[in-house]
Order: sequence, then C-alpha cells, then structure tokens
Amino acid sequence: LMHLTRKLIEIRSILLSIDQSDSLKLPSIVVIGSQSSGKSSVLEAIVGHEFLPKGNNMVTRRPIELTLIHTPATDGNAAEYGEFPALGLGKITDFKQIQKTLLDLNLAVPASECVSDKPIDLRIYSPHVPDLTLIDLPGYIQISSLDQPETLKDKIVSLCDRYIREPNIILAVCAADVDLANSPALKASRKVDPLGLRTIGVVTKMDLVPPEVGASVLEGNRYPLHLGYVGVVCKPSGSDARKAKAGSEHPNMSGAVLRREEAYFGSHREHFASLMVGTDTLRRRLMNVLESSMAGSLHSITNAVQLELEEATYQFKVQYNDRGITAESYVAETMDALKARFKDSTAHFTKPQIRAKLKVMLEDKVMNVLEQLYWSDKRIGELASLGADSKVRPEDLDPYWRYKLDAASSLLTKSGVGRDSTHLVADGLRALIDSIALGEPFNHHPVAADRIVEFSHAILRERLGVTSDQVENCIKPYKYEVEVDEREWQLGREKALALFEREAKMCLDKLAEIKQRVGGNRRLTSLMTYVKSLEEQERERAAKRLAAARTGTAEEVAEESGASAHDPYRYPPAQVLDARHAILYNDRLAILKLRTAALQSKRCRAGPESDKFCPEIFLNVVADKLAYTSAMFINIELLDHFFYQFPREIDSRLMYELDRSEIARFARENPEIRQHLDLQERKEKLEEVMKQLQSLVNLRKDTQPPPRRQ
Ligand code: GDP
Repeated sequence: LMHLTRKLIEIRSILLSIDQSDSLKLPSIVVIGSQSSGKSSVLEAIVGHEFLPKGNNMVTRRPIELTLIHTPATDGNAAEYGEFPALGLGKITDFKQIQKTLLDLNLAVPASECVSDKPIDLRIYSPHVPDLTLIDLPGYIQISSLDQPETLKDKIVSLCDRYIREPNIILAVCAADVDLANSPALKASRKVDPLGLRTIGVVTKMDLVPPEVGASVLEGNRYPLHLGYVGVVCKPSGSDARKAKAGSEHPNMSGAVLRREEAYFGSHREHFASLMVGTDTLRRRLMNVLESSMAGSLHSITNAVQLELEEATYQFKVQYNDRGITAESYVAETMDALKARFKDSTAHFTKPQIRAKLKVMLEDKVMNVLEQLYWSDKRIGELASLGADSKVRPEDLDPYWRYKLDAASSLLTKSGVGRDSTHLVADGLRALIDSIALGEPFNHHPVAADRIVEFSHAILRERLGVTSDQVENCIKPYKYEVEVDEREWQLGREKALALFEREAKMCLDKLAEIKQRVGGNRRLTSLMTYVKSLEEQERERAAKRLAAARTGTAEEVAEESGASAHDPYRYPPAQVLDARHAILYNDRLAILKLRTAALQSKRCRAGPESDKFCPEIFLNVVADKLAYTSAMFINIELLDHFFYQFPREIDSRLMYELDRSEIARFARENPEIRQHLDLQERKEKLEEVMKQLQSLVNLRKDTQPPPRRQ
C-alpha cells in the first residue's frame, strides 16, 4: 500500500500550492522538541545524511517542509539529491550544499523577527528514504539566553501550536537523560492530543542512561501515548564520536547508525526485546502511521476537494463562461492588438492629412510674415488704392512692393520649414505612441509601455535629422524662385480670402468677449475713447520730453515725467488693458477689411503677374507648395520608415526577448488576467487532485474486502 502515501504526498504538495486553507490539508509529520533534544540527529538519521544547519545561534528560524521521496535504486548506483522547488537551483547532490542553503535561508530571517512562519520547501530523493513528509520546526527554548528577546520563546510556541493541529502527526522528541515531565514537546502535544492518538514519542540519547531506565521510559507508563515511544541512538557518545570522525566520510550514514543501534540495543536485549527501538523501527513506524493517517483522511479530503472544485467550476463558468486562457495567448493577443491599433492609427498619417497639418502650420507663418511686413506698413493703403481712378501709378510703386514681396517670400521659405514640419509630424507620432502606451492594457504593463515609448522614440530620433535635412533640401528651389500658374493663383486667392475671413472672425469673437467683460458696447466705446486720449497724451509728453531733452532743461523733464495721465478711479486697470486690446483688434479688422476688398478687386483676380499687389495670394501659394513638398519627403523619409519599423520592433524587442516565466509575469501584471489565470489554475489543479483522489478511492475499494453483513 506504499502507493497511497506516495500518491497522497504528491497530492498534498499540489494542494499546498493551491492554498494554505486547513480544509485542504493532508496529514504530515511535525517534529517538535526542545533545543538539543536530538531533533536534528533524528531527522538526519532518517534521511541518512547530515543536511541540517548546525550552530548555537538559533539556526532553525523557519519551518522546513521536508518531503522525502523514495526512488528505486537502479543498478546499485543510487542517486541521492535534494531540491528546493521555490529556488529553482535544480538537483543538489552535495548535502553540504543543502546544509549551506538551509543555513542561508534561515539566517535571512531578520534578527528582529527571530522566527518566521514561511516554510522552506525541501525535497530529498533517495533510495534509502521512505515516502514521508516531515516538518522540522524551531526547537523549544528552555532557558532564554541574554541576546534573545523574551518574546522569542512565545513565538516559537505559537508557531509549533499552529503546526501540531489536526490532521498532522506529532513527533515529540525527548532526550532520555532529561525527565519526560520536563519535555516541552510532550506538554504541547498533550494539549492538542491528550490521548496521544496522533503523537509518537521519540526518545533520543538512549546510550546516556542505564538500559533499565531507558526501557522504563519507552514502556510509557507515566505518560502513555497510544502510538507509543521509540528509543534511538542517533549520535555516538563523546569518545565514540571522536573515533567515528577519524574514519572516512561515509556516503550514507544510515548504516553507521544502524550498526551503532544494533550494538547498543543488542547488548541489552533483556531490557528492550519487547520495545520499539532503533531508527529503522522509527522509520517504519512513521511510514505506517502516516499511511494510515493518510488513508483515514482520504475520505474527508476527497469531500473537501470536491466542494472546492464545485465552487471553482461554478465561478469559472459564471465569471469567464468557461473560457480558458494562457499567459502565452494573452501576450500574443496583446501584441496583435497593439499592432492592429497602431495600424489603425496610421490612417491619421496619410499624405493628404500630413499636408493639411503642415498647411495649417505654414498659414500661421504666412500670417506672421504679413503682420511683420505689411500690416504695420503705413503705405499699405497704397496697395489698395491702386484702383482705376488712382493718382498713384503702378510703375512708381513697383520696386518698393517687389522688394517687400521678395523679403516676405524668403522669410517664409527660410523659416526652418524642414525642421518644423518634421518635428510637427514626429510630435504627432510621439503623441500617438504615448496614448497607446498609456491606454489599456499597457497601463498594467509599465515596463513594456516604457519600452514601446523608448524604441519608438529611438526610431524617430534616428530619422529626424535625415528627414529634416532632406525636406530642407527639397524646398531649396523655392528659396530662389517660385513660379505660380493661373490655377494655383486662383486657388491661393480663395484660400487667402478664407484665411482672412477666419482671422476676422477670430477678432470679432475676441471683441465680443471683451464687450461682454467690460459691460456692453457703450462702456467699451467710452473706454476706448479714454485709452485713445491717454495714448494721445503719452505721445505729446514723449514729444515734449524729446524737445526738453534737446534744449536741456532738466527740471521740466522731471516735472513732466512725474505726472501720471491715468486716473485709477475712473477705470479699473484690467478694463483699460481690455480696451487697449480692443483697439488692436479693431485696427486688425480694418486692415483685414481693406485687404479682403483688395483680394476681391479686379487686379488681384487678374493672375500671377499681380503678385506684388496681392502678397497674401502669393504667400499662400508658396505655403501650399512647401506643404506639398514637405509632406512628400516626410512621408518617404520618416513615416514609411516608422510604419515599417515599429511592428518589427514590437516583435523583436517586446515579444521574443521574453522567456516563459517573463511571459507569465507579464500576463499577471494585468489584474483581470491574473484573476482569470488564478481561478483557472486553481480549477485545473483541483481537477487533477480530484482525479487522483478518485482513483485512490477506487483502488482501495477494490483491494479491501467489502464490509461484512450482519
Ligand atoms: P537538536 O538541537 O534538538 O537538533 O539536537 P541535535 O541533534 O543537534 O543534538 C544535540 C546534541 O546531542 C549533539 O551534540 C548531538 O551529538 C547529541 N546527540 C544527539 N543524539 C544523540 C544520541 O543518541 N546519543 C548521544 N550520546 N548524543 C546524541
């Protein structure tokens, strides 16, 4: 029936990985005893190797979940090794290394905590061990030493109390040379198991007391335990120990312990004949007790797992409609969605759209140039007054306005169009990537989001210089000469009109806003009159100051500049500022009106040869040509490259660099996916456990005789 324990040990570790709830626990053997009772020596004798950390400085600070797995001895060359599943160190065949690892894990518990209840999972595979699960706990402290906090004693007690609950089997370790009445292990066990139905007593150091004394302890008359006491001699006494040390290191020490125990108990056969003695007996006893305890738990654990499974299945149906996922499928879907989202977004970066964006930017520049060169020009009226009945002849004006137009055109073409247009598009791409990186599901994956941003910016950075140089190069001809044909001219005229209309509307809106703010039309009119008179005074004073400065009468200058023209009681300063702005908007509107009329005049309709009289049209056409050319080269040099590269970078920098565990971690960053995966895994594990339990139950039905009928 060894099969059962082994199977249930496997099931136990699956259940432990599902959760730590008590209802899903299969029995294990819990080893308790006071410090120096010989606890470690017993465990090592069972395993056949020294592997537990030694030292005075409280070296067991965490529970050790020790799972022993019996492996068949193949052709005598038996492999014995340990594994720490949580650490992923692989097979460790050197037991000194296991000892070192255990020591490190224990000492990693901060001194302030002293003990931790986080168990260390250690599995040992060997042909010399039975299938067993043992939990080694920190030893009870008899006398606290000075450097240990008072609470440590209680902490250990409560840690042990947690583990000695049902259904676990208690292995109470006591030394023969200490009165059992003083054994903290027996005391603790009696509290939770008064009849000793699940407690095995182990009496160590039998060699240190006279055989008849040892034998009477094992008889257990004073402190009876249903499962009885086993006497052992796991370590040689002082003088023998030195002899043993001198001998060569034995690969497995079970033989030595066995020989020692045989020698000791054999030589006192008259006392021990009917008692349980020896590590080998202990080992078998543990196997039997665990086996029957496991068998006893089979029914209740099957029921508990059944209930949990039903609940998990129900939840999985309700919450996820039985839809299974894997971390891999999530990652693949996420990457596909990312590429699809990106592809969709590229629809905002077609050539006409880029052209339109650039055009808006260039129109802004056109307006600036117009403002700079024309609108503040006092002679601007001349351009409009060149009607049929004009006194001014066009020929007289030509050189001046020709010069102006050349200046305007070169201001526009040399304003850094290559750089500005490239940056405009690159900024658009960056904004697109940022919005993807900040949105679902990458808000859950900050590292991946950073990467996306990082590599897309890198692609852009790499192309930025090349692209803006290329664009600048291609618009170079326009810096010298722009040819405009009839059709372009007419289009430009319409655009210029539209632009002016927009600008005029903007001015009117602003004026309406100001009107509203200051409290109506009349109020604004009187404010503006006031501001104008102020400006008039300022001008006069400036003129006087200039005159005074010229004649050199210092007093007069001081006197004049001291007087403030603004009367703060009359209008609040904010409204005065509003009125100043209103005047500017009005002036702008007047110019726009004037120029709109000019654009609609016969001369401007005539065609490209009127360019110097209609700079707005000409500049508009230039802006159009610049936008067209820029868009074309940005498309080739920047966008095509970016759209090609980005999805490839997703594959090479986001996906293929991930190994299995990273994929799992990535998927679990998303809380929804994590919950989904958790529930799914829980359900799958429970199903697996249920299947195994079911087959065990069936097996037992077959092998056990049917209950006898009365
Ligand atoms: P633990 O602190 O309970 O783990 O106890 P250890 O296993 O470290 O043993 C404490 C001391 O008792 C060590 O010096 C062991 O050598 C010694 N010891 C353990 N078992 C026996 C035994 O059966 N006979 C003798 N003579 N000494 C033992």
